Amino acid sequence: MTDKYAVIGNPIAHSKSPAIHAAFAKQTNQEMTYEAIQAPLGGFADTVKQLIADGYQGVNVTVPFKFDAYEMATELNVLAQHAGAVNTLMFKQSSISGHNTDGLGMVRDIEENLAISLQGKRVLLLGAGGAAQGVLHPVLDKNPAVLTVANRSVEKAVAMVEKVKAQYPSVDLAAETFDQLNNAFDVIINATSASLNKASLPISDLVFADSCLAYDMMYGQETPFMAQAKANGAQVADGLGMLVEQAAEAFLLWRGVRPEAKAVIDKMRVS
Ligand code: NDP
Repeated sequence: MTDKYAVIGNPIAHSKSPAIHAAFAKQTNQEMTYEAIQAPLGGFADTVKQLIADGYQGVNVTVPFKFDAYEMATELNVLAQHAGAVNTLMFKQSSISGHNTDGLGMVRDIEENLAISLQGKRVLLLGAGGAAQGVLHPVLDKNPAVLTVANRSVEKAVAMVEKVKAQYPSVDLAAETFDQLNNAFDVIINATSASLNKASLPISDLVFADSCLAYDMMYGQETPFMAQAKANGAQVADGLGMLVEQAAEAFLLWRGVRPEAKAVIDKMRVS
């Protein structure tokens, strides 16, 4: 029997995940199917139960179900625990194991594909929502010199920083509002959803250090954040690499084989 996987979201028609996983399966000669499934709002658990009954081996989970997946998992890996959200489920004999591969995917995209080490760098993380929480530990695990979290609702940034402070004593950690930012950073990550509404962030041009990387988790179009970064001489990257790399981490979990993500990122960018 062919192994079956899917991505669950609502809406889901736009998802690139089926094309990404089809490319991985072809590249690594894996016999599997992968489809996009729209679960009704409030119907995530029932959809998953049906997929398990139908013999599926695992699913990726996207907006708005990452917290439902977290609740449904009967075991959680450490990154899922830290993020408080799950984007990958593995169905086992008597358990549902929950993982969060977003942070690993983004860090791998920055360090491997863009060839920029985070160690010793001054990193600015914009946003304190699910995506920011998901990348926080994987970024800190790379030993930056500085990590500042800035958010519109600053209390969320403060809570994020307080939670990890004791665990990472060598990192200079801080929480700020956007308009308090007046230092330069080597890597600036936009994990807000402001770009979805084409909104710019009220951040000073001072945050963009010479030769910095400005990384927007959004992909598909140039965002106001990317335009501001470009105007300040930054190297700019969108979140397509993160999307493919987080999928590669899920594929590795499910299949035990790491696909070559870079080739698929290049392919997705032109398709
Ligand atoms: P959440 O809804 O959990 O968080 C949204 C964040 O954006 C919050 O920090 C919120 O601030 C902030 N925000 C929203 N609107 C504005 C605004 N107009 N000005 C300033 N801040 C704003 O979303 P997620 O964390 O799940 O997603 C964030 C982004 O990351 C999305 O664009 C998503 O598409 C992208 N993403 C990309 C992935 C990839 O693979 N490339 C993976 C996961 C996410 P506040 O707390 O004040 O409300």
